[in-house]
Amino acid sequence: KYDYSGRTAFVTGAASGMGLAAAEGFAQAGANVVLVDRNEEALRNEAKKLTDAGHRALAVVCDVSKEADVEQAVQRAVSEFGSLDVAFNNAGIQADALELAEVKLEDFDRMLSVNLRGVFTCMKYELAQMRKQGSGSIVNNSSLGGFVGVPGRAAYHAAKHGIHGLTKTAGLEYAAQGIRVNAVAPGIIDTPMVAGMKQAEKGVIEDMMRDVPIKRLGTAQEVAAAVLWLGSDAASFVVGHVIAVDGGYVAR
Ligand code: NAD
Repeated sequence: KYDYSGRTAFVTGAASGMGLAAAEGFAQAGANVVLVDRNEEALRNEAKKLTDAGHRALAVVCDVSKEADVEQAVQRAVSEFGSLDVAFNNAGIQADALELAEVKLEDFDRMLSVNLRGVFTCMKYELAQMRKQGSGSIVNNSSLGGFVGVPGRAAYHAAKHGIHGLTKTAGLEYAAQGIRVNAVAPGIIDTPMVAGMKQAEKGVIEDMMRDVPIKRLGTAQEVAAAVLWLGSDAASFVVGHVIAVDGGYVAR
């Protein structure tokens, strides 16, 4: 549906879930795809599937909480394909539910270092490259947790609210330079992350589903569809915006 031929898409957390669905979507739309993840085995498997299917894909092992890894991943993308045109900053983690007074500072820091500082670090290096090109489009992956609170999830929701701040601010800073920054905010999506939550905490997803007007889980492909649109020229006047892809959760 979208034509990404000749463009390079950089996707973090690309070995699983929504990152993988977006990487597949970009590849099918003709992009060169850089798959970035810290899970080396899954990453290499997924990148190989794409290259075996005739797409141009590069796997880069990277922990987004480490600045040197991110810097190197962006450099590899540019040296392999010559540009970095669209980025989906999606890598993220979830933690067990715990009321705020029980959260250890080290666990709060770990959550923030991946889910917020990881996005910031990726944006910093992506934007430096896009500024040189005078063009680019960044899509961050937030969550319904960027709009509302859910008891037991203070650190995750703090990080996701922070992504909205980064998205809006960078949207303003770079719009006049031909670079758009936006985000998606998925609801409850059927990915390995949610499967893990179901296993760790009985009934947690069922409880959250009561607040989902559409009464089903979303798919990774439904989120990827919004990412591909936001990343493309079809969304050329959309700046600093966060789109909920959540079956109506935050519209309540
Ligand atoms: P997932 O667990 O299926 O995939 C996440 C991927 O990110 C994994 O491949 C993992 O290895 C990678 N990753 C984790 N930490 C990393 C790090 N430090 N560096 C590099 N890679 C790292 O999860 P998903 O459900 O596809 O989630 C993707 C994003 O969507 C996350 O940011 C998550 O917070 C967000 N999100 C998920 C849901 C949901 O319901 N699944 C809802 C809203 C938002």
